[in-house]
Amino acid sequence: MIKINKISKSRIESVDFDNLVFGKTFTDHMFICHFKNGSWLDPEIKPYQPIKIEPSASVFHYGQAVFEGMKAYKDNDGKVWLFRPNENFKRINRSSHRLQIPEFPEEYFFEGLNQLIKLDKDWVKPGYENSLYIRPFVFASEYTAQATASSEYIFMIICTPVKSYYNGDNINVLVSEKYSRAANGGVGYVKAAGNYAAQFYPTSEAAKKGFQQIIWTDANQHEFLEEAGTMNIFFMINEVLVTSPTNDRILDGVTRKSIITLAKKRGIRVEERPIKITEVIDAHKNNKLTEVFGTGTAVVVLPINSFTFKKISYKLPKETNLANLLKEELLGIQYNSLNDEYNWTRKID
Ligand SMILES: *Cc1c(COP(=O)(O)O)cnc(C)c1O
Repeated sequence: MIKINKISKSRIESVDFDNLVFGKTFTDHMFICHFKNGSWLDPEIKPYQPIKIEPSASVFHYGQAVFEGMKAYKDNDGKVWLFRPNENFKRINRSSHRLQIPEFPEEYFFEGLNQLIKLDKDWVKPGYENSLYIRPFVFASEYTAQATASSEYIFMIICTPVKSYYNGDNINVLVSEKYSRAANGGVGYVKAAGNYAAQFYPTSEAAKKGFQQIIWTDANQHEFLEEAGTMNIFFMINEVLVTSPTNDRILDGVTRKSIITLAKKRGIRVEERPIKITEVIDAHKNNKLTEVFGTGTAVVVLPINSFTFKKISYKLPKETNLANLLKEELLGIQYNSLNDEYNWTRKID
C-alpha cells in the first residue's frame, strides 16, 4: 500500500549518538502523503530530503499547520516500541479538524509509522536516556494568497534520535502576569503550529531573566495556573495531586493522562480542577506544597525548582520523590522493562 524507496547508503555512521543536540539530526527516511482533489493519495516513504514548494504555499501566510510529538523506545532485546500511538493519531486529527485540515486516514498513519520506524530502527538506541522522537505534521500546500482553508495539504513524518540527560537540572519558572498561550474558544487544546510561535517571544523574555519556562495563566485574570511551557503541570498539595482539567485551553497530554492513571493506582488522590496561584502560594507558606512538576513526551516528568510570581520567588523542596517514582514507572512501561498492564505499548514489527 505504501510505496517504499530506500536510501542507498545510511548516514548513521556519521552520527555521534552520545552528543546529540535535540532535534538537529534526522534519520535516513521520511514519510510523505499529499491531499489533492479531495483525497489523501500515494503515501510514500523515501530518503530524508528537502521538499520543493512555491513561496505562495498557504502555510507560509496563514499558518495552517498542526503537528504531533511521540517517541519510539528500544528495549534490552532490541525490540522497538511506541507508547499509546493511538492517542497521537486521534489528537492530530482533532488538531486538523480545528484548523479545517482534512483528517488523515488511520491505516496510512499506522502503516506509515510502522514501516518508517522499522526501516530506521538502528537509529533507536536502547537505554532510558535514548529514544527516537517522532514528528508527524500536516501543512497547507495550496499555492494561493487567499485567506481561506487550503485545498491541498502535505502530511509528513520525520524522526530525530534524542538523548535526555539526567543532570538533575530542574527548572525555574515564571508565572505569567501578562501573556497567555490560549483563550476560551481558541486553539490552545490542539497542537496548532502557531501556538508555539506565539510563545517564543514571552519565553525568551523570561529566559533573559533566568527562567527556563513560563507557567501560562488564564487569559482573563492571570489567576489560574494552566500549563508550564509546552508541558502539563501538576502540584502536590497536602498529599493531593492537582492539575488543570482539560478544556479549550489545555493540551490533553498523553503523558498527563498516563501520570494520572499511575498516580491513582498508587492510591494517590488526584484532582483535575482549576488551580489558582493564590492557592499554590498559600500551600507553599504552610509547607503543604511538596512538589510541582511538568509532564510531556520530550521530558516525561520534569520537577520544578522554583516559581516566581510578582517578583517573589518560591523555592520548592529538593526531594522530588513522587515525580521520580512516577517517571521511573512510566519509563519502565515505555521501554518494556515493566509489565504494561494497561496495554499502552505497541511493538514495531
Ligand atoms: C504536546 C504538549 C503537551 C504534552 O503532551 P504529551 O502528549 O504528553 O507529549 C503539553 N502541553 C502542550 C502545550 C503541548 O503542546
